[in-house]
Amino acid sequence: LVRLRARLARSQNTLGKGLLTLLSREHLDEDTWEEIEDTLLTADVGVAPTQELVERLRERVKVLGTRTPEELRRLLREELLALIGTDTDRTVHTANGIGNGGDEIPGVVLVVGVNGTGKTTTTGKLARVLVADGKSVVLGAADTFRAAAADQLQTWGERVGARTVRGPEGGDPASIAFDAVKEGIAESADVVLIDTAGRLHTKTGLMDELGKVKRVVEKHGPVGEVLLVLDATTGQNGLVQARVFAEVVDITGVVLTKLDGTAKGGIIIAVQRELGVPVKLVGLGEGPDDLAPFEPEAFVDALID
Ligand code: GDP
Repeated sequence: LVRLRARLARSQNTLGKGLLTLLSREHLDEDTWEEIEDTLLTADVGVAPTQELVERLRERVKVLGTRTPEELRRLLREELLALIGTDTDRTVHTANGIGNGGDEIPGVVLVVGVNGTGKTTTTGKLARVLVADGKSVVLGAADTFRAAAADQLQTWGERVGARTVRGPEGGDPASIAFDAVKEGIAESADVVLIDTAGRLHTKTGLMDELGKVKRVVEKHGPVGEVLLVLDATTGQNGLVQARVFAEVVDITGVVLTKLDGTAKGGIIIAVQRELGVPVKLVGLGEGPDDLAPFEPEAFVDALID
């Protein structure tokens, strides 16, 4: 975790450092506030949250009088945290709470998002975290659109010790998802993670497919979590994607991947605002250990330290 934090700090601190430098100027004139706005917008914080933050900062700087670096840092920290939200539930719900004796239904997590965002990798990494936590996991390779996805997922499964349920290439994603949960029940698994396909060009196709996957899985019991995987490097494009998915299926959490490859961490603020759904996990690299819970305090500290 320390290593991940260090990496996060390296990739993100231009935003925080930039803001602190600007706020430390002797004269905070209109040009400087505009520069602060630009810094936030460039980091993908989004228009409305940027305006809110700048307004709050202006107010607070006014009553502050003298601006010591420590005070500015504390102030910025508080306001960024207020924007991100510190008392949000960011647990990935992997248990569905249903059970009668030994006949428990596993917690089901659907992983959705556009191809290339890191869905399969995230599913594999999450399986690894869960297995390390003592949980038994079944993987459902319901991304039958991308030819290599099932192989990739199975490789992850073999690496972490989770069985992968897959179907024929181009097969019906919903029936694979159904079978994966059935397998999970038969094995008394704790969690079933289902990797889905994410083609976006036909929204109705996506809607039909994802809706069907969810409905079919729900024949076994409720879905505990629908995680939307977004690539942090795609900025505003990612937000457009997020909106489409949110229309199709009830997203319960966001995984922001490739945060190691961008200084635009503001997307965390923008996507939460856009969807009204918390960022729960962040991807900080391609390796098996590079998935971390999203911790607002650690994130903001990395921004401004
Ligand atoms: P999918 O099509 O959405 O299933 O995407 P994949 O899981 O195949 O990931 C696409 C590419 O992104 C792969 O090369 C992954 O290794 C890479 N990737 C996934 N997550 C991260 C991340 O957090 N950081 C970085 N740097 N690369 C990632």
